Amino acid sequence: LILLDVMLPGLDGIEVCRLVRQKQSTQGYVYIVILTGKQRKEDVVQGLEAGADDFLIKPFDHQELRMRLRVGQCILALQDQLKQMAYHDSLTGLLNRLAIMDILQKELSRARREDCSVSVVMCDLDYFKKVNDTYGHLCGDAVLVEAARRLKSEMRLYDSLGRYGGEEFLMIAPGIDRVETLRLARRLQSRLSETPIPYMEHQITVTMSMGIADNRCCEFGDIDSLIRLADEALYCAKIEGRNRI
Ligand code: GH3
Ligand code: MG
Ligand code: MG
Repeated sequence: LILLDVMLPGLDGIEVCRLVRQKQSTQGYVYIVILTGKQRKEDVVQGLEAGADDFLIKPFDHQELRMRLRVGQCILALQDQLKQMAYHDSLTGLLNRLAIMDILQKELSRARREDCSVSVVMCDLDYFKKVNDTYGHLCGDAVLVEAARRLKSEMRLYDSLGRYGGEEFLMIAPGIDRVETLRLARRLQSRLSETPIPYMEHQITVTMSMGIADNRCCEFGDIDSLIRLADEALYCAKIEGRNRI
């Protein structure tokens, strides 16, 4: 939240306001309150046109300023909530497909620029329909939540994990080679299956199949080819008996 004066040395507040709006992208919304001695209607309109959310004229009342800042805080809190909902899967709390693909796109651009590698691990729980059919959908949901938690616990700081589809998860691992990615996938595999997932009186063991691909093994290094390769690899793992990479 910015409380901004208009008459400033060098760059005036209106220009600052325009610049903030131009630069705004992934950083989240910036709420701008202009606080100025300029009193004409045109000044107010100009400020709002430049992207200010609110406008207060000096001399101002402290109580009023406090209330208007509170409105700004409410709007920012709502923005955060919306962003959280738009980018996260409500069941597992992981990044959703939109968000994880967004990250992959950015990682691929960065990798191209810096000539480094990006690996993806596409994971799909094995025979998951059977879990639903045997224990019910609520149990299936609980298993998904615990599976997500276990996978997340194996992530390194720079990795990202998202729910790609129903019982499919996508991990993005920047900067590691194929051997290290395989090691990571093995850790995910054993973390998921080493102990059964408890649900009421049941103990449910789930396994998953995984497909690995990296930007160096696909011709164009674009997002679609990379996902396609990982999918093909996953398909092989399924065909060859599941619970494998
Ligand atoms: P495979 O080993 O070939 O992957 O078999 P599968 O049974 O895991 O695959 P299939 O695609 O046949 O079934 C996926 C199942 O995942 C069916 C669907 O109902 C279930 N599923 C997807 N999303 C959810 C969810 O959010 N909650 C629950 N409980 N089940 C889900
Ligand atoms: Mg599936
Ligand atoms: Mg499956």
